[in-house]
Amino acid sequence: MSNQIIKHQQLLPEIVANIASIRDFRREIHAHPELCFEEVRTAERVADKLTEWGIPIHKGLGKTGVVGIIKSGTSARAIGLRADMDALPILEQNSFAHASVYPGKMHACGHDGHTAMLLAAAHYLAEHRDFDGTVYVIFQPAEEGGGGAKVMIENGLFELFPMQAVYGMHNWPGLPVGQFAVSPGPVMAAFDTFKVVIKGKGCHAALPHLGLDPVPVAAQIILAFQTILSRNANPLDAGVLSVTTVHIGEAKNVIADSCEMTGTLRTFSNELMDMIQQRMREIATHTCLAHGLSSEIEFFKGYPPTVNHSEHAELSRQVMTGIVGEDNVLTQHPTMGAEDFAFMLHQLPGCYCFIGNGEGGHRMPDHGAGPCQLHNASYDFNDDILPLGATYWVKLVQACLPVFSKT
Ligand SMILES: [Zn+2]
Ligand SMILES: [Zn+2]
Repeated sequence: MSNQIIKHQQLLPEIVANIASIRDFRREIHAHPELCFEEVRTAERVADKLTEWGIPIHKGLGKTGVVGIIKSGTSARAIGLRADMDALPILEQNSFAHASVYPGKMHACGHDGHTAMLLAAAHYLAEHRDFDGTVYVIFQPAEEGGGGAKVMIENGLFELFPMQAVYGMHNWPGLPVGQFAVSPGPVMAAFDTFKVVIKGKGCHAALPHLGLDPVPVAAQIILAFQTILSRNANPLDAGVLSVTTVHIGEAKNVIADSCEMTGTLRTFSNELMDMIQQRMREIATHTCLAHGLSSEIEFFKGYPPTVNHSEHAELSRQVMTGIVGEDNVLTQHPTMGAEDFAFMLHQLPGCYCFIGNGEGGHRMPDHGAGPCQLHNASYDFNDDILPLGATYWVKLVQACLPVFSKT
């Protein structure tokens, strides 16, 4: 981080003073990544730190989830701050000292950094208690496709810990260090996946009239699927339909019995998702019927869209502006990536924002050859932003749960 950026940031001095131990914690977690619902070691390390700082904890929501409870004053108001803890099944290409010691597992999405930033904030809040109400620090498992947020909710997160709002934050490579991005409305997409099976009749490839070939039918269906977003959807309503796998046949001289294809759907609204799936059913069914074949289509629910509540996005923006200045709080352009914090924002109002992770120049000289992008094998979380993220959490708490002077 350049000195100029530091000068313009209103970082909390106590957080800056303690940042070396939080950085070491982050790197230790980075070296020991754990996948969806297997975050046992990570959860233990988090629980130990919270306990060391006198913060009561609750363990086991969503299998490995940890919730810390920090109270101050007398108000019944409460908010939740959430960090994700899980890693990805990626073989890390970095060879610096804190690279993963588990081949095939890697913190390539920065959840190690998210966990560390929330821990730093929890430490400060427990020491200072300069707010009025309750803060629940939520350390969540299984964001990467496991829907850990949903499981924590199903296990009673919001009944055990009633709160009025919930907030999340993700690091964003490419967004400069010292900047945030936040916006009201949809910011991350919903995703569902699908499987289509086309049932034909196999035969000798030299005698196609004796069978029902799924190959040309599959080709027509794949192309027709692409007309849904270009012809049926409102052009201003963003969506993605990607057929990502197609499996037909084993031999050059055999017409196969059937074809199986799978893929993913992304939208920002449930209405568009429903329309796409309805049209896919119609196209698959009728294209197959036109050629004398039949089909089956299944959809699998992923995550809903992540939609920020206006009032809470505005409050977050004001808090960020107070730390880094107006020019460094950007518009959060929606992305087709999906995020399971969406489940929490479907239950409670709140806001999910981005914090700049920079362009990758922070990495040690012995990082991998790839770009410092999320889910890339050469990624690393930027330790320079630890104090900024932690300061945001603390100042957000102070803004949400202010201490009113009694006069
Ligand atoms: Zn990720
Ligand atoms: Zn992530």
